[in-house]
Amino acid sequence: MAKEGREARETLDVVKALRVDPNFKYEVMESPGGETLKVCFQCGTCTSSCPVARFTHSYRPRHLIRMAQLGLRNPVLSSDTLWLCAACFTCTDRCPQGVEVSSVLRVLRNLAVSKGFIPEAYKRMVETILSTGYAYRIPKIRFTKREALGLPPLPKGSVENLSKISKIMGFSEEE
Ligand code: SF4
Ligand code: SF4
Repeated sequence: MAKEGREARETLDVVKALRVDPNFKYEVMESPGGETLKVCFQCGTCTSSCPVARFTHSYRPRHLIRMAQLGLRNPVLSSDTLWLCAACFTCTDRCPQGVEVSSVLRVLRNLAVSKGFIPEAYKRMVETILSTGYAYRIPKIRFTKREALGLPPLPKGSVENLSKISKIMGFSEEE
């Protein structure tokens, strides 16, 4: 009995340390695309079908789904692996429970952004898009070469419109 009591206390300590939030799953399920989170029964089909998981042991969509179900808000939202999903929807197509895995992961990324958990690489990409209208900085030589070859200039991105979108999405507040 004493052993059981100690184990229960240890489990409680782990739960406290991980700051389990039982409401987290409802928050995910209330967001468009996150509705099916609860029906995952952890069969692992998503992970075994995932082309990204094939190349890295650190990426396991099934784990992310489970963490979200368990209410591990901060560990899941701060996880860098959340951003490895290529949004190919293979997992969604193959899930026997009809879990919209890819969409649930998108919801988790959106929640991560709203809490300021954005990997540096994505922050830099957003900065580049907002300042140039392109996803990466195009070297000047590229423009010079296009001109020399008689190619038309590259279309310009609308930095003003992007700035408006960024404000609406809350990106600007994260800077
Ligand atoms: S395939 Fe579906 S039910 Fe199976 S672990 Fe992945 S999300 Fe859960
Ligand atoms: S959508 Fe993401 S998690 Fe699903 S199979 Fe594709 S890369 Fe993997």
